[in-house]
Amino acid sequence: MALIPFDDRDGWIWLDGQLVPWRDARLHVLSHGLHYASSVFEGERAYRGNIFRLRDHTERLLNSARLLMFEIPYTAEQIDTACRQVLEANGLTDGYVRPVAWRGTEQLAVSPSGTTIHTAIAAWPWPSYFEGERMAGIRMMEGTWRRPPPDTAPTQSKASALYMIGSLNKLQAEQAGYADALLLDWRGYVAEATGANIFLVIDGELHTPSCEAFLDGLTRKTVISLARRAQMKVVERHIQPAELARATEVFVTGTAAEVTAVREIGDHCFTPGRITEALMQGYDDLVLCSPEAVDRVVAA
Ligand code: PMP
Repeated sequence: MALIPFDDRDGWIWLDGQLVPWRDARLHVLSHGLHYASSVFEGERAYRGNIFRLRDHTERLLNSARLLMFEIPYTAEQIDTACRQVLEANGLTDGYVRPVAWRGTEQLAVSPSGTTIHTAIAAWPWPSYFEGERMAGIRMMEGTWRRPPPDTAPTQSKASALYMIGSLNKLQAEQAGYADALLLDWRGYVAEATGANIFLVIDGELHTPSCEAFLDGLTRKTVISLARRAQMKVVERHIQPAELARATEVFVTGTAAEVTAVREIGDHCFTPGRITEALMQGYDDLVLCSPEAVDRVVAA
């Protein structure tokens, strides 16, 4: 299916406080955000008109910017409202929502001092990230580029700059015929996929890497809550790649990926099974609940 370019679609994009026609939501080529990746973003999903964990995404966006030493000039309430407005303006009840904030054109030195902060929010339909493979399982290979240590970059920021690593690994994986790549961290421990966190089932328990080097995903946190509510043991720890040999099931979690089974990573094969299926179902049910019901589950 040919993809419609993202700058040539019908619809509305919220840009610096106003809805503008989709094709007019432009920025100048001499923007600091483009040259130096002084930019942060979010990825959200709406289900039947509700954006899942909207306030948590908005707070993460504001915090991602603060970690990059800038302040987005809107309150969480204003951003939440704008996200909902964008969905409505585009006639969407289900879809992906993408807020992004970046430094503007006042300065094109490395120094970002004095730049204006711009914010945009777009939304579009996005059925399933790993189309048709959520339970069948995706094939992954080990990526070559690693997640850096937390003292080399603000790794808890959803900063565009950090996506260079994921993007390159993803491209290599796709060119080799795989759906995604497994990223190791700087020490060689298992970290995450290029846009999702990872879980292993070992001896019936859920094991997931502790997140010193990568984003503690909202889906990761949601799935941990669901698993604990189902009396499953969840262990957050350092995981060696060789331990993949002991895993019976593996799955990845993310706003776009939701819960997606993995059937292969390099030489290791897994059979998506009962635990993956239960958590996938639990997540699929939860995203359709009211925001209050979701809060009760994730707060527990
Ligand atoms: N890691 C990376 C690199 C990601 O891009 C994402 C998606 N935002 C995640 C993990 C999962 O985060 P979340 O569950 O909050 O979408």
